[in-house]
Amino acid sequence: MKDLVQRAERLRADFPLLHQRHPSGSPLIYLDNAATTHKPRAVLQTLERFYTTTNANIHRGLHWLSQEATRLYEEAREVVAQFLQAASPQEIVFVKGTTEGINLIAHGLRQVHFQPGDELLLTAAEHHANIVPWHLIARDIPVRLRPAPLRSDGGLDWEAFQQQITPRTRLIAITAMSNALGTEMPVSAIGALARQRDIPFLVDAAQFAPHKPINVQEWCADFVVFSGHKLYGPTGIGVVYMRHPWGETLPPYQGGGDMIVEVRWDSSTYAKPPQKFEAGTPPIAEAIALAESIRYLTQKVGWDFIQAYEQYLTDYAQARIEEVPGLQLFGTARPKGAIWSFYSEAVHPHDMATFLDQAGIAARAGHHCAQPLMEALQVPATTRASLAFYNLPSEIDSLAQSLHQIVHFFV
Ligand code: PLP
Repeated sequence: MKDLVQRAERLRADFPLLHQRHPSGSPLIYLDNAATTHKPRAVLQTLERFYTTTNANIHRGLHWLSQEATRLYEEAREVVAQFLQAASPQEIVFVKGTTEGINLIAHGLRQVHFQPGDELLLTAAEHHANIVPWHLIARDIPVRLRPAPLRSDGGLDWEAFQQQITPRTRLIAITAMSNALGTEMPVSAIGALARQRDIPFLVDAAQFAPHKPINVQEWCADFVVFSGHKLYGPTGIGVVYMRHPWGETLPPYQGGGDMIVEVRWDSSTYAKPPQKFEAGTPPIAEAIALAESIRYLTQKVGWDFIQAYEQYLTDYAQARIEEVPGLQLFGTARPKGAIWSFYSEAVHPHDMATFLDQAGIAARAGHHCAQPLMEALQVPATTRASLAFYNLPSEIDSLAQSLHQIVHFFV
């Protein structure tokens, strides 16, 4: 274990922001990685290098700078395809983030797939990004959301999930890892069920992607979405994987430059996917920097280390938080990612997070964009500590120490 911790300490040198101090003078302890992660120097340098040496618009310039920018952008698509084990880079669409990705898919399915009375099967742990886009559809076509319940330990109730698949189920759309609980869903088993029944299957991998490797083919997924900024990459870039031939089937999400073959006053024809879904100037530098964050993660840090070390951190955090009297810990089901949500009757989560902040600890309090889940847990909100491979056991000790003090103060 000592080796893993020493490796994490060395990797922290790659993240300039982690070396700042909180205004109170305390060292900054960043435990809000489910909201967004910090960026390694390699990613920051890629952004700077792009703007200082290669900046040009893509796909439309004949000059060398534009061609070089296009080459890097399309190379980024290949890196993402490999990261997801997609069959082809043509199945990768760049978007702004997970939210835009799910809206793009919902917009397309509304036009070519859903009928009134159709059902969408989700889990009770969905982020609003995988709820509200379907409500927007339901304004035009009355479709019904059916959330499968969780067990009391936060794991998916598998029997109930299977029972909720009906002849009206026209989409299964689940998070691979709950952003509030860290619970991992049985994605491959759900994908196999969906494929057997010919039901399209969408996976929200926003939280899963930074913690575990993805194989979209093993998942039997039709759509997978994630955000660059949670994967040590920039904001403003995300990915939609669309299994072939969904890219052909779905209509464009937005119209404009770069997504057409021909435009006349009375109609236009569209380019092939993925260009068909990337109207206008895309986030070029961000896509290229996302590819760098993937290289950094998979080549410099490595999944073996990430998985072993984050497992250790998760277990360590559970043990330390459980020692705090009166704290209710949610989401103990395994397997789980390095995210812990907790609640004390004595302290409102917002007060808890404010006190933690005074000790230099960045944790999140609120409903975590998962209000239906909070309702199911029967709490108004929780405090959440979410970890990354650059966090240290000593930071968890500081969290536990502050939690003891806060609870002691309020009780
Ligand atoms: N889905 C999950 C599970 C998330 O945790 C988040 C963000 O926290 C989102 C979707 C939305 O991601 P973004 O805000 O990057 O679009």
